[in-house]
Amino acid sequence: LPEQEAFDIEYWLLEEAKLQRMPKPKSLAGRVALVTGGAGGIGSATAERYLREGACVMLADIDDAALAETAEILTERYSKDVVRTVNMNVTEEAAVIDAYSTVAAEFGGVDILVSNAGIASSAPIEETTLELWNKNMSILSTGYFLVSREAFNVFNVQKMGGAIVFVASKNGLAASPNASAYCTAKASEIHLARCLALEGAPSGIRVNVVNPDAVLKGSKIWQGDWLDQRADTYGTDKSGLEEMYRERSMLKRSVLPEDIAEAAYFLASDLSSKSTGNIINVDAGNVQAFTR
Ligand code: NAD
Repeated sequence: LPEQEAFDIEYWLLEEAKLQRMPKPKSLAGRVALVTGGAGGIGSATAERYLREGACVMLADIDDAALAETAEILTERYSKDVVRTVNMNVTEEAAVIDAYSTVAAEFGGVDILVSNAGIASSAPIEETTLELWNKNMSILSTGYFLVSREAFNVFNVQKMGGAIVFVASKNGLAASPNASAYCTAKASEIHLARCLALEGAPSGIRVNVVNPDAVLKGSKIWQGDWLDQRADTYGTDKSGLEEMYRERSMLKRSVLPEDIAEAAYFLASDLSSKSTGNIINVDAGNVQAFTR
């Protein structure tokens, strides 16, 4: 190389190395996220992803013990100043409104809602009681409506836009056997997101969906009695389930809570500033390959 060119390259490499060493601004610094179901597997992983990017996080859940445990872990890793908890049942209108007041009191407002609190259930249609049907609709469909409506109310006062991320399910797109109540409720979440995206767009409010396929790691859903009710589909041995899901996926990979958190981070951050009303399936390719 001619001398000057070699010098230029060396100079450029040194400048680049300096840049690499400089602390990078965190992409969610100064933002506040309310995460429903924040004491669960996907909710806590999402909260942690946001904390890593500098956000303040309010974990909202009905499970006080799990809330305290999650908050302890996160405050140890980050700081007490950036993690708070609130007991909130997403099916109770007054509790949802109160929770937003708590976020405002603790952090001064809210910029991101992750609507994620949920359950799973299973029953053939003939055995789906009205109670089971209503439970699914109430927590999943109505719960997502209530927390989003209040987010809109707060965003409209703040006049700074906002991001809403729904954690729905691939079962909101594809039917699953003996789960009509769950699948229908999840489908309604996805369509609610589309409707809210249209309504929110003029005010800079973006609404998007992450659809997980089975996430066994860390999920309390997979530890409950729900699977026992699906023994006809999955058998009684739960140990092979993770492998079953992995094997049937295109990518032959298990979906982890951290994978959902990554998509939820993308949809909450400015990285996705041109996306609204959209869905990211985090499913290792399952939705397009095979449905069960
Ligand atoms: P999880 O059970 O670990 O977490 C769910 C959390 O929601 C729990 O902490 C629970 O206490 C809370 N919750 C339940 N009802 C509530 C209510 N009425 N009000 C407030 N909080 C309530 O489960 P997860 O796997 O983390 O699931 C999170 C979301 O992801 C759910 O909406 C679920 O349907 C969806 N999802 C999960 C999977 C999976 O395989 N894990 C697959 C597809 C979709």
